[in-house]
Amino acid sequence: MHIRFENERRRVIDYLRRIGIIRSEKVYHALLSAPREEFVPSHYREYAYIDEPLPIGFGQTISAIHMVAIMTEELDPEPGNIVLEVGTGSGYQAAVLAEIVAKQDSSRRGHVYTIERIPELAELAKKNLERTGYIEYVTVIVGDGTKGYPEKAPYDRIIVTAAAPDVPEPLLKQLRMGGKLVIPVGDRFVQRLLTVRRVGEDEYVTRHGIECMFVPLIGEYGWRD
Ligand code: SAM
Repeated sequence: MHIRFENERRRVIDYLRRIGIIRSEKVYHALLSAPREEFVPSHYREYAYIDEPLPIGFGQTISAIHMVAIMTEELDPEPGNIVLEVGTGSGYQAAVLAEIVAKQDSSRRGHVYTIERIPELAELAKKNLERTGYIEYVTVIVGDGTKGYPEKAPYDRIIVTAAAPDVPEPLLKQLRMGGKLVIPVGDRFVQRLLTVRRVGEDEYVTRHGIECMFVPLIGEYGWRD
């Protein structure tokens, strides 16, 4: 069973590298190491390496593998970085980030703070991260991530894995100088992946990336329920 998943994982990750979606060694190794089959509901395990989003309950999804790859490449996390993820879901993206910022290079201990608004999903993610050994590198918080998590700011990197109507102001303020924020912004149906770099106290440079489709970011600085 284990070997089968590892082979399937390698096949899809190698394919994403061949077609140029995975560009860096660090993202390649992180995706090869993080077991997606442990983050999908047990009845979907055999579909873990079909490159599509899968339901995780409460109307939410674990993102497709290529989308996790694209967002991680855009974010460009470095070993030792302090990262904030908004939208924990299953915990899979947090595990991929933990591989790069904290696990692969044990001399540089970064950390991932990940925030989820649905308490049951936060609990599920915590269990997934515990079972897979990532919990020492990841802290799961229940709350409205549109307000960020000021307790541990500033962040080197912030990633939002739900669709926002606009870039939430608190997230911009919690970004370290030179830091990067990746976020899908648009309407409820289609968004564009934005990469925002903080270049000065009130100065940000935004790059507009691919079109994408995410579940809505619901909260004070996102969509209203
Ligand atoms: N990153 C996740 C993974 O690896 O499984 C997938 C995230 S899923 C596409 C989006 C998540 O964002 C959902 O779990 C949803 O409940 C959460 N979410 C939506 N609005 C939120 C908010 N204001 N704060 C925190 N989480 C939020």
